Amino acid sequence: MPFDAIKPSNLFQCKKCGECCKGYGGTYVTTDNIKEIAAYIQIAPAEFEKKYCRISGNRPLLRQSENGFCIFWNDLCTIHPVKPKMCRDWPFIKSVLADIKNWEIMAGSCPGIRTDFPDHIIKAVIEKKLS
Ligand code: SF4
Ligand code: SF4
Repeated sequence: MPFDAIKPSNLFQCKKCGECCKGYGGTYVTTDNIKEIAAYIQIAPAEFEKKYCRISGNRPLLRQSENGFCIFWNDLCTIHPVKPKMCRDWPFIKSVLADIKNWEIMAGSCPGIRTDFPDHIIKAVIEKKLS
């Protein structure tokens, strides 16, 4: 395949293993995320924050269940259509552009990420995706 034809789906295919939905500092949610998810599960945003979020560094993040997984993980993401931007963007994130080594590190815990492409191709695909 010519390099300029490589798409995000060539570099990453989620295997639905749930590894990224476990611990690791949590998933931050914006006010818009909260409104959207609260509407999806049909509760008021204030109630959503109280029940499903905790505050870390003045910012709300999704709570975890006792098993360490995100509270919305149940063998799959139960809020998939409205999941937070952080979850939607993965693994095409700015920190990989800042340091390409992060791609390899992320691949260590995400079996959906392929590492057999040259760094400049990975960067180009991410740049295009984020533009
Ligand atoms: S770790 Fe990777 S493959 Fe597993 S659920 Fe998360 S994004 Fe998908
Ligand atoms: S919102 Fe969904 S995708 Fe994001 S961490 Fe929770 S279960 Fe995983």
